Amino acid sequence: MILTPDIYVIGLGPGGACAAYEAAKNSFLTIGVERKKIPGTPVQCAEFIPALMGNMVNNLRATCVQNITSMHTQVESSPADIIADFPGRMIDRAAFDTALAQEAQNAGVQCHYGQSVRHINHDGAISLANGTKIKPKVIIGADGPHSLAGKAIGSINNEILETRQISIPLLKPFKSTDIFLKADIRGGYAWLFPKGKTANLGVGIVASDKARLKPILDTIHKSLVDEGRVGAKTLSHTGGAIPAGGMVMPHGMLGETLVLLIGDAAGLTNPVTGAGINAAVISGRLAGEAAADWLQGDDDAPKHYHEDLTDLFGASLRRALDRRRALLQNYDNNNTPTPDDLRASWIAYSEYWAA
Ligand SMILES: Cc1cc2nc3c(=O)[nH]c(=O)nc-3n(C[C@H](O)[C@H](O)[C@H](O)COP(=O)(O)OP(=O)(O)OC[C@H]3O[C@@H](n4cnc5c(N)ncnc54)[C@H](O)[C@@H]3O)c2cc1C
Repeated sequence: MILTPDIYVIGLGPGGACAAYEAAKNSFLTIGVERKKIPGTPVQCAEFIPALMGNMVNNLRATCVQNITSMHTQVESSPADIIADFPGRMIDRAAFDTALAQEAQNAGVQCHYGQSVRHINHDGAISLANGTKIKPKVIIGADGPHSLAGKAIGSINNEILETRQISIPLLKPFKSTDIFLKADIRGGYAWLFPKGKTANLGVGIVASDKARLKPILDTIHKSLVDEGRVGAKTLSHTGGAIPAGGMVMPHGMLGETLVLLIGDAAGLTNPVTGAGINAAVISGRLAGEAAADWLQGDDDAPKHYHEDLTDLFGASLRRALDRRRALLQNYDNNNTPTPDDLRASWIAYSEYWAA
């Protein structure tokens, strides 16, 4: 049997759930597929979102674990520099993804969990690992940094950050995002984000240094234990890839099937901070609308989708990419980045925002 939905959304993370919701709201037969058995589980995220997202996502309050008010950035072993006004929320990411997926389902999306797309053909035909075949009119690729939908249209995230994160007991509650910049963490940084009585401690690094993630994280964990800020016990660990090369071409055709990419699949994650939830939600909504417009005869809808993404995210992605590449150039020239180089590559410092 071949399924023939109007719109087939691959991946039901925040981006896919929002895209599917918009598509179904426009009365198109929409199916979403997700390889995880339970939405958002296991969590692969540090769970910070900007406070402004509260205006965009229903039920956000229900998934919020604690407020963030400031950002503390420690460069090498200097005392932390403090941005006092940095409002955000720490969320329960599994609950957040579940709430968005539930909204999509309520709007009429058929959500299939525990099923993986294995192959996408050049004519837009999709095969699942369980043998199911699908021939949709539109594919929305919401399948993350290593997107199969992106690969099918030649839009591939070539620069990747790898991460490792542990959840640990928090002994002294705080309300900042703590950032650690070190020349030793090539192309990335470490973070300590509070979540009530626990905290997410993680590190991201260029993919070629992946083997160094655990020793770096262990060292930072130990120093925080020594400072009496966190407990020694590791409650859980996670990780995952983050696209760090900026936006890829977010649309293409496979035969008569339109493909739209969103969120991490489209490379919309900030190459410096690794933050991508906000962009996934926004691009998901726009792609759901663009898919509906295209199905209603607007041939320019994919082009307009691309223009919208460029207008919304182009400048900030470009700046982040420039700063990241300038920092990485030091290593390519066999130089160790100085503390000033590290500052110029991070959003807390005026050098980052300079022309
Ligand atoms: C360790 C870590 C920490 C992070 N911390 C933050 C943070 O604090 N704040 C922030 O804003 N961003 C953070 N990010 C980035 C953020 O998680 C992503 O940008 C965001 O999840 C992108 O949403 P998305 O919907 O595009 O993709 P995802 O959330 O990655 O969803 C893609 C979905 O597609 C599914 N999928 C993939 N392939 C297939 C397939 N073949 N078949 C079926 N399903 C498939 C996956 O299972 C997944 O559920 C972090 C990322 C990592 C790895």
